[in-house]
Parts: sequence; C-alpha cells; structure tokens
Amino acid sequence: MAEKPRTPGFETLAIHAGASPDPATGARSTPIYQTTAYVFDDVDHAASLFNLQTYGYIYSRLTNPTVSVLEERVAALEGGRGAIAVASGHAAQMLAFFSFMEPGDQFLASNKLYGGSITQFGRSFKKFGWECVFVDADDPENFRRALTPRCKAIFVETLSNPTGVVVDLERIAGIAHEAGLLFIVDNTMASPWLCRPMRWGADLVIHSTTKFLSGHGNAMGGVVVDSGRFDWAQNDKFASLTQPEPAYHGLRFYETFGDLALTVHGHAVGLRDLGATMAPLNAFLTITGIETLPLRMERHVQNAQQVAEQLASHPAVSWVAYAGLPSNPYHALARKYLPKGAGSVFTFGVKGGYDAGVALVEGVELFSHLANVGDTRSLIIHPASTTHRQLTEEQQIAAGAGPDVVRLSIGIESVADIIADLDQALNKTKRA
Ligand SMILES: *Cc1c(COP(=O)(O)O)cnc(C)c1O
Repeated sequence: MAEKPRTPGFETLAIHAGASPDPATGARSTPIYQTTAYVFDDVDHAASLFNLQTYGYIYSRLTNPTVSVLEERVAALEGGRGAIAVASGHAAQMLAFFSFMEPGDQFLASNKLYGGSITQFGRSFKKFGWECVFVDADDPENFRRALTPRCKAIFVETLSNPTGVVVDLERIAGIAHEAGLLFIVDNTMASPWLCRPMRWGADLVIHSTTKFLSGHGNAMGGVVVDSGRFDWAQNDKFASLTQPEPAYHGLRFYETFGDLALTVHGHAVGLRDLGATMAPLNAFLTITGIETLPLRMERHVQNAQQVAEQLASHPAVSWVAYAGLPSNPYHALARKYLPKGAGSVFTFGVKGGYDAGVALVEGVELFSHLANVGDTRSLIIHPASTTHRQLTEEQQIAAGAGPDVVRLSIGIESVADIIADLDQALNKTKRA
C-alpha cells in the first residue's frame, strides 16, 4: 500500500529544510561559500543564466549557495513559497516595497511599529515618492477608513516592538484582500515558532533575522518571505511584476515564474539594483541559530511569562505591558495568534520616573544595557535616556517611551537569576 509522504514537523524543518550534505565534499554542516562569482560552463550557459532561463549562480550580489539554504529554510518555517535574504531587517522592508511601489503610491501601516520602521517609512521612503499613512490598528476598521485608490499594501507587526501590541491579523488580511491589496506582516518579535502569519492571510512576511532567528546577537540580517498566493494580475496596481521588464528582454515576472514571481524579482531586480546582499557568514550563523529556534523560543517565552508575573507584583513597578498577563488588553488576541506564548520583549513602568529608570539600567549585573532584542542574553534599555532622548517628554509619551518606561528582552538564562538581578537593581531605584 502506497503511504502518503509525511509532512515534516517544525523542529525537523528548522534543522533540515533547504540543506543537504555538500555534493562536493560531503560536509554535513552547510559550508560558507565565501566566493564572489561562479564559473560558467560555456557561453550558452552564461547566456541562459543572464536571461533567467536557467537557475544557477552568477554573482553573489544576486544569489549565493549559503544564503540560498537560509532562504529555503525560512520559507519552509513560514509556510511560504520562496524567500529573499538580505543584509538587515530594514533592507528586507526596503526590498519588499521596492518590488511593487511606484512614485506617488501609498501604503497603510500600524502606528505601533519598531521605531526604526516608523522613521524608515515616514521619512526615507518619502524620497522615493512612497507615502506611508499610519493608523491605529486596535480597530482594524481604521485601515478600511484610510483606504485610497493610491494604496497598494497594509503593513503590521504581529507583536509590536516594544509596545507588545497584538494585531488582529485575520481581520486586517480580510480588509486588505477585499481591496485587492497586499498584506505584509513583520513577524520578527514572534518568530514562526510562535505565529505563522500566512495561516491568517499574510501575503509577505518580513523578518529582521538579527533578532530571534539568528538568536545569539551576532549576525545582522533580514528576509522577505512570499506566500506565492497573491494574484498580482487581479488589478493594474502591480505593474513591475505583470508588465514587461526592459532589462530582461521584456520578460514578465508573474507570467513566467507564477508563484515564484516575487522571489525571482527580489533577486534579479531588487538585489541587483539595491545591492543589500546578506554576507554568507551571516547566513551561516543564522542557519545555525535557526536549528535551535524551537528550543530557544520555548525557554524565552517561559522565562518572560515568569518575569512579567514577578514584576507585576513588585512594589517598585507601576505597570507591566505583557500580552501573556490576563489583565493585558491584548491577552485575548495573544491567545488566538500566539497560543505558545506572547514573546519575550516587553515594557514596564518603574516608580520614580526618569531617575529611577537610569538607576535601574545602571544597577543591573546579569542584564546587558544595549539597543537590541532577541539575544540568548537578557537585555535592558531605558528609551527616554537612549533611543528616544532627542524627543520632548510629550513626544516620548506618545511613542510609548515615557520617562518611566523600561524595555526588557528576556534571555534564556536561569529564570531565578534573571528575576534576582531585576530585584536587586529595582531595590536600588528606590534610593534614586
Ligand atoms: C530590529 C527590527 C527591525 C529592523 O531590523 P534590522 O535587522 O535592525 O535592520 C524591523 N522590525 C522589527 C520589529 C525589529 O525589531
């Protein structure tokens, strides 16, 4: 009796997807292909590679075998059709929008995003003539209200950094698709272990692999994953994927490559012209990190839940914003979209305001005081004295970075040590 092939589980994909022993040497771990270019068999082979008629390697700005393994692996974990790995999370956002935006176009985004994304979308994207309209995603209908004929996409974070807002992915996807728009989700804070946004209707998923995917605070990177399900030809909005591309003899990406159109375009046009290539060493470190993603995420969320509960009852703490706490306004959404845990990055308020916040970040010993998240190590930052210090107090409060706000990224150390370190440092804030 013919057996149905088994679908591998997430943990198996995290270790094996995209990788096989090196055909030249048998090396079991994916080699770092530290090369700029690849020898052609002959002139005909070169010609068919340049015409995108044969799949193969030409030059590492476009594709590289180590980077390709990472692309296949993340695509598999997100349930996507293909992926483009790039130099950073911001490069991933740039490349994703570059694939379909034209000067004068608009997109809608949640106003609760990573601060760097608010700046990239609100300021630098303007130089390309792309306009981002920010809306409050707590009411998904706000996206429908903000739609205009120039809109091409809706962008949200599954779990926002650092405010911990969980958005209603399924409802927002419905609004985007009714209007023929692309739904793009930055899944950095959740990772595919906690949430797979394509299950809820995301067309593209973006990651800063710098955070949980690489997971050890040692490699910058980003990735754009395409579900392969978006119909680029349903309206006339996505000309760069449906109309002839002059630089490839009039080739039409959607007609030629179907559900791989965006993936091929991202390499053949996006990386060719923007040049934000991921280094093979960073791809290697990220592939290695992903092998333990399920184990790390399990411990990250378990530790974060315990730390959040401890802080919520600590006398030096005035509030804790963690969606894993039943009192949190996003708890119900977190139970639907993040049933395994609400991530490990969250904010809380320290009694005593600015001076207490400074005393806390200077008083910790196990925690590292720095601007990153998603490391094995526990990290802490006081936005008002660092990332948001240029803003006025009103602006800081509006950005969720008021004088008393502290952001934590809970690592995978012994939870008793994490809690003890915060406790001793919080006790110092009472003297501040
Ligand atoms: C860090 C981060 C980014 C930007 O990624 P880089 O790798 O730093 O360029 C984008 N989105 C979120 C949610 C992030 O945390």
